[in-house]
Amino acid sequence: REPGSKVYQQETRSLKRANLPRNMIENSMFEEEPDVVDLAKDSTFPALDPDEVVYEPRSSRLLVRGLGENELDEEEEDYESSARLLGMSFMNRSSAHRPSSSPYTRQAPPRSCSRPSARTMVVCVLFLVIVASMTMVLYFLPGCTFTRVRQISNSSAAYPNSTNGELFPWTELRLPASIRPLHYDLTLNPDLKTMTFTGHTVISMSVQHNTKRIVLHSAELNITKATFQLDDGKPSDVTVLEYKPRQQIAVKFTEELKAGQHLVLTLDYSANLSHNYDGFYNSSHTDKNGVKSVLAATQFEPLAARKAFPCFDEPAFKATFLVKISRESGYMTLSNMPKAKTTELPSGLLLDEFEKSSVNMSTYLVAFIVANFTSISENVSDTLVSVYSVPDKKEHTRFALKTASKLLQFYNNFFDKTYSLKKLDLVAIPDFLAGAMENWGLITFRETSLLVGNNSSRLEQQLVASVIAHELAHQWFGNLVTMSWWNDLWLNEGFATYMQYMSLQREFPELDTDNLFLAMRFRALAKDALNSSHPVIVKVDTAEQVLEMFDSVSYEKGASILLMLNASLPGEQFRKGIIEYLRKFSGLNTVTEDLWNSLTQVCHQSVSEMMKSWMLQKGFPLITVSRSKGQVTLTQEHFLLTADNTTRSSSLWHIPVTYVNDSCSLEPECKQLFTLKTASGTLKLPDNVKWLKLNYRNTGFYIVHYGDEGWKALIDALNQNISVLTHEDRASLIHNMFALSRLGRVTFRQVLSLLNYISNETDTAPVTEALSQLTTIYKLLDKRQELGLVARMKAYILNRFDSLICKQTWGEELSASKQKLRSALLESACSLDHPYCVQNATELYKQYLESNRTKQIPGDLQRLVFTVAARSDEGWVQVLQMYAHATYDAEKRKMLQALASTQDTRRIVWILKAVLNGETVQTQELPLVFSTVSNGFAGHLFTWNFIQENWNRLIEKFPVGSSAIQSIITSTTSQFSTQAHLDQVQGFFTSLKERGSQMRVVQEALETIRLNQCWMDRNLPAFRQWL
Ligand SMILES: [Zn+2]
Repeated sequence: REPGSKVYQQETRSLKRANLPRNMIENSMFEEEPDVVDLAKDSTFPALDPDEVVYEPRSSRLLVRGLGENELDEEEEDYESSARLLGMSFMNRSSAHRPSSSPYTRQAPPRSCSRPSARTMVVCVLFLVIVASMTMVLYFLPGCTFTRVRQISNSSAAYPNSTNGELFPWTELRLPASIRPLHYDLTLNPDLKTMTFTGHTVISMSVQHNTKRIVLHSAELNITKATFQLDDGKPSDVTVLEYKPRQQIAVKFTEELKAGQHLVLTLDYSANLSHNYDGFYNSSHTDKNGVKSVLAATQFEPLAARKAFPCFDEPAFKATFLVKISRESGYMTLSNMPKAKTTELPSGLLLDEFEKSSVNMSTYLVAFIVANFTSISENVSDTLVSVYSVPDKKEHTRFALKTASKLLQFYNNFFDKTYSLKKLDLVAIPDFLAGAMENWGLITFRETSLLVGNNSSRLEQQLVASVIAHELAHQWFGNLVTMSWWNDLWLNEGFATYMQYMSLQREFPELDTDNLFLAMRFRALAKDALNSSHPVIVKVDTAEQVLEMFDSVSYEKGASILLMLNASLPGEQFRKGIIEYLRKFSGLNTVTEDLWNSLTQVCHQSVSEMMKSWMLQKGFPLITVSRSKGQVTLTQEHFLLTADNTTRSSSLWHIPVTYVNDSCSLEPECKQLFTLKTASGTLKLPDNVKWLKLNYRNTGFYIVHYGDEGWKALIDALNQNISVLTHEDRASLIHNMFALSRLGRVTFRQVLSLLNYISNETDTAPVTEALSQLTTIYKLLDKRQELGLVARMKAYILNRFDSLICKQTWGEELSASKQKLRSALLESACSLDHPYCVQNATELYKQYLESNRTKQIPGDLQRLVFTVAARSDEGWVQVLQMYAHATYDAEKRKMLQALASTQDTRRIVWILKAVLNGETVQTQELPLVFSTVSNGFAGHLFTWNFIQENWNRLIEKFPVGSSAIQSIITSTTSQFSTQAHLDQVQGFFTSLKERGSQMRVVQEALETIRLNQCWMDRNLPAFRQWL
């Protein structure tokens, strides 16, 4: 899935949550659970009480123990305190009715024995008392085994009540592994007038080992009839039990179902079409004649297939599907597979039947749509590629078709494995929260992620091509080979993100996605530098934690690590390893280790050893360089931003350090490699080397400090000639310098001294990086109302970039890189009231109006021109009118951002309300509106108040943990830097309790405010002195 361009915007779900308190420390608590059981992949399941075992993939948690020792200490604390906090609830969930003889039983953390504390002693004494009592019980109850007694007594205590009052026969969030679905026959009858649907689901299953229950998922479905058939026996009615907090249903049997038996469960049900953006949801659009039509579409990832049909809704339960959908004659339907036939029903409705899926697939990839779309198509090596949209927007689909066709061919070759299905549909849905979703054969998109006008700018094309490239990569990474459980989500998302940049760089170099990728890596470093970050692979045990996995670490850090790995392997080895992985696991589920093993097999060097240090520890290293003539010492430590004296972990990374020096610094052949595995290492250089630049083209996920001498040598070199380094290396120096300033390792004077060279800079990446860093500081000063400093900072920025600003043209520009540079520069300039910029923007807008909007504003300048126009009362109203009537969504979004950047408080309030109510402005745009409004001084306090007042409505539309909520919190709080705001934010989120207080993004927000506060306190005197 592609979360969207700038802000993470994803699907919304309204999950019924477990009654347990969701506590952040649950994460670490579960770290101690023993595992290393690969149930997901093995077809043979362990024989010992297997029904008690959930479908748990092998994870790498044991390996965590070898790393980050300091963190373990904290986790042990957490483990104990959380056990106290959660009491019996915790017992129920994790271990209560697992027999003590089972290898899957929770064991005490080994370290607690070596350091007996008072608490441990108490526990030991209690344990002895219990053992003594149990012995006595056993003595008086001959015939019972110890295990049996425990299991029975615990089980009955642990099982929750179903909705009908009977005990529900399962206690875990994850489904039991005893039954496996093989095939689903789905019939859906949506009624777009009443916004309801009925369904008929036939699930064929096999028994993996003896059991007396079938447990599967179902949410918000009203099951009206259920029948069950064993092997060739007669179907009979059965009672379905439901346990809503975990969205599970179950059928209990008196006789044991035996391993190897074949079962068929048939369920009839009815439900409402969802009014949010997940499950089987309804949406509508109005055409240019004002005629409104309704449609229904699906969004299942990660946990919403269960809202459309009862199913085993975990990625490792792959099965085949046959879908049938009824419709009225004015509509068409789409599903993953091509349509097989259409029959007329007695009711007069038509029933479309799709081919049975030729591949096994996970439930989250199933999709269907009922709408009145039109399409254009093209054949690409035996695959029919089509792009669908509402009829009015058909002319905007051409770029997508051309791009998808070219990329499909690229991936067919690159993966050395042809796309698995006979057709591939790309569909633009009018109401869609995520950027796009990779449903197999039926990729759904937000309209702005798929449709581009004939006069679109390169930047719009860049966005659309990126999303298509991402979703197409998923057809292999994610669909063909799928992670076993959401803890390895990066295997899907990190990979698709990496492939998106790699494929575009090769197939569409004119779109200049390299700079986009570089900026993404800088963003990933910023997130991962916080203490609230997490390892790429992390334990996932609750529904909210599943949602939270769709974050910067899975996508952006995942992609960055893959780039680093590829850059450190010679030739085509990375690609060969990937081909081997896809060949070996085609149609199956995997864990991260499987990928490393395939690469190791091809590369003949242990990839796994290196990658573990990047996957299982949060954060990344800071490398400090110190040089004594020919001897260079590199030391590594955890780059952790802290506002207090939080001790850094002693984590070490296995770093493929690359470097170039003044004798050869531009071509790839200049690059030298040094592997740093220990805390420090030395390398030799000729004495006459003047300077050294590490992390060639910034392909490594680390930051470098060159020391005073090293920085000075680099700055001197740049001041003489900026072309001694690649533009990525120059951007990397700027990025690293600002990061070190946040860490307190360099002074702000050193930052300014590096930026002196920037007057001569003309390349996009270094300019946009410097601008974005300076703008961040400017906004912090602005929000603190440090008026004197705000003015000086503004003057500094405009002065540094003045000649470059004045060099920019205002006509059509073809190069994507130049469009990016121009829009970034001019947007900053106009927002800082640069007279030349404001004047030109105003003039362009005037010409646009006078030509009755026939004289186009270049796409990359539209947002800026509309924003300047919307500053005046008259202009704002004009832009609002244009917004209401515009049909081209990319343009519409820019008008919306212009409207949201107003400093008029009445209008700010109006727009916040409009987007929340979905009137005039679609609710899917809420994260974008919030981030735009928060940027302005007037707006940032309003959004903060608005969030507090409307929290319940917000989490109704975007569930706790979702990316939309993450984005809203981040954009609203990230510019606070005072104690008063810190107290407010802390107070508000603490008061939410189960309504969001435990989200990781809350910790991140609090940490960011503390860091801002600390950085401001430290640097305000320096600003006064040096700006
Ligand atoms: Zn994705």
